Formats: sequence, structure tokens, C-alpha cells
Amino acid sequence: MSLLVVCDHDRGHLAEASLEALAFGRPLAVAAGLELAAVVIGVGAEVASTDLAAHGADTVHLASHDLLTDFGPEAWGETVVQLVRATGAKAVLACGTDRGNEVLAQVAARLEVPFVANCRTVQPTDGDWSMTRIQWGGSLLEDATLSADVKLVSVAHHVVEAAPADSPAAGAVAPFRPNLDPSLSATVVVDRVVLRQGITLATSPVVVGGGRGVGSAEGFEPLEELASELGGVVGCSRAVTNNGWRPHSDQVGQTGTRISPEIYIASGISGAIQHWVGAMAAKNILAINIDPEANMVTRADHAVIADLHQVIPAITAEIRRRRG
Ligand SMILES: Cc1cc2nc3c(=O)[nH]c(=O)nc-3n(C[C@H](O)[C@H](O)[C@H](O)COP(=O)(O)OP(=O)(O)OC[C@H]3O[C@@H](n4cnc5c(N)ncnc54)[C@H](O)[C@@H]3O)c2cc1C
Repeated sequence: MSLLVVCDHDRGHLAEASLEALAFGRPLAVAAGLELAAVVIGVGAEVASTDLAAHGADTVHLASHDLLTDFGPEAWGETVVQLVRATGAKAVLACGTDRGNEVLAQVAARLEVPFVANCRTVQPTDGDWSMTRIQWGGSLLEDATLSADVKLVSVAHHVVEAAPADSPAAGAVAPFRPNLDPSLSATVVVDRVVLRQGITLATSPVVVGGGRGVGSAEGFEPLEELASELGGVVGCSRAVTNNGWRPHSDQVGQTGTRISPEIYIASGISGAIQHWVGAMAAKNILAINIDPEANMVTRADHAVIADLHQVIPAITAEIRRRRG
């Protein structure tokens, strides 16, 4: 009987988050008296699975089928369900990324069992498992008890390091061919776009953020100029993406990207909790806002209470003046 870890990859390139799930799964499997198994699904699974033994997988299931090319939540979910039934797996674990949680939600619905997402700790027993999970982007910790024949759990992203095991496991490869109906390809990848090369929002040392106060898509041009002068990138709030002014890939927050720059310049952003949880790891925050009571202003290291349309160009001009 096994603890099955669902490993995510993109055309053979294994997601680091999957190695976090294996690192979390190793002591969990031991404590639960289960073998640690991994499943890698679709085209490129063999290439993606090469390091899994080093990360503790006793068995590596490689699932293949014509419908399993790029990621598809319904087909991936049904594949995991069939593998659980075929192997008698007692628990399924994934990293709590969007994809990991989506696949486990599919599995939960198909098996009609509960699913606990974004766990920080899990204590298995012979019967129920108890766990602490992260809610509201990290602002709330919730204790839960999971009672089910097959336990479905995702581990919150970044709560463990993706370190290899002290000694490698067997990594026995076991091909698996699920029986999939074409109706399972309801959601498929139709296009792939590389949004940005080099510095990303998640890794940039400087982020110039804009919120509803920016006012329009064109209003972001001065923010782009400032970001360019500082060697950074532009981020934004959800109000901005909702208005279609910037793509979702620029969104900072609970349902966007978590940033940790040296400095976050947050302009025209109120600092709602869902935005704050994505920005709070910034080492310095400069808020620019007309409202001195705005959350972002009261939490920032520095604040300018003024119209961002005047302040941002003024900062850029001053930088250029000093650089001559
Ligand atoms: C489940 C859920 C998930 C969410 N996830 C996210 C998320 O990931 N990221 C996110 O950002 N939000 C998220 N939200 C939305 C969040 O609750 C807020 O609605 C959003 O962050 C507000 O965006 P904002 O600060 O740009 O707009 P507002 O709250 O409208 O604030 C605009 C600010 O601009 C200031 N301002 C106006 N004009 C100027 C000016 N000329 N110069 C300077 N300042 C000015 C105002 O004083 C105000 O403080 C989520 C909400 C929910 C329910």
C-alpha cells in the first residue's frame, strides 16, 4: 500500500514543487507505514521522472495515453483515480500549486472523498489524519481532521525544501495505461506563450506596482519607465487585472504572484489583505497613495501621500538627473 505523489511537469521538465511534495511525503509515508510512490503523467513523463528515486520514490508510475499530452485536469484526475484503484494507494499527495490542487479536486470528486488543501503539517494515525493547513494566503492557520478511506492532501507551496532523500530509493518504473474517454479532454492546452524572459515578477529585486489608482492601461507607461530605470518589473493589483489593464501574470497577491523584492513601490494600491499576502515578503515598501489611512500606507516602510501621476514621473526624472 502506498502514498502516491502526483508529480507535475511541463513536457519533461519536472516542476520543483513536485520535489517539495516528495520531500514532504517521505516522513509522512514512513509515519503512515506506506510505500512512497510517484506518478508522472503524459508526454515527457519518462524524462521528468529521472530524479524521483533520488527524492525517495520507491515506485515511479509513468502514465501514458493519447489524451495525456499537455496538462488537462479532467484526464489527469481520472488517471490518478484509476491508478489509486489499480494499486490500492491509501493516500494521494500533491504540491498545493494551482495544478496540484486542481488535479486533487478532480480526484476527490471522482472518488467521492474529501480533500484537504495547502497543509503545513500532517500527522497520520491508523484512522483519521490530523493536519494544519494554510488559509487566506497565510493569514489563517486551520486545524483539520481527515477521515477517508483514501486520504487526499496537498502540501502548501514552499513549506519544505525540495531536498533529495538521504539515500536513494528503488525508483522501480511501472508503466500505466489508463482507460480514458474523449469526454475527459474538456480542458486542454491550446496555446503556450512565454510571457517574459530574464527577470520575472517573482524574482525581480525591484517591483513597481500599480493599482486601481493608476486609472487605465495607458497609465502604466510611467510605471514601466520607472521599473526600467531601476532594473525591475511592473506588478499590479487584482483591480487592475479585473479591468483588463494588465495580464494576470502581473498580479501580486493571494491569487497572483508572491514577490520578495528589495523594494516594492506600491502606487495607487489600497493594500487589501489578498494583495498584502503577496507583497509582505518585500524587504522595503514605498507606498504612494492619496489616502494616508490606506492599509498599504500604514504598513509600508515609507510613504508619499500624493497623486501617483505626479510622484512616479518625478522619481524617474530625479533618477535620470542624478545619473546625468
Ligand atoms: C478570493 C480573493 C482573492 C483575491 N486575490 C487578490 C490578489 O491576488 N491580488 C490583489 O491585488 N487583490 C486580490 N483580491 C482583491 C482585493 O480584495 C482588492 O479588491 C484589490 O486588491 C484592490 O485593488 P486596488 O488596491 O488596486 O484597488 P482599491 O482598493 O480600489 O484601491 C485603490 C487605491 O488607490 C488610491 N488612489 C486612487 N487614486 C490615486 C492616485 N491618483 N494616486 C495615488 N493613489 C491613488 C486610493 O486611495 C486607494 O487606496 C482578491 C479578492 C478575493 C475576494
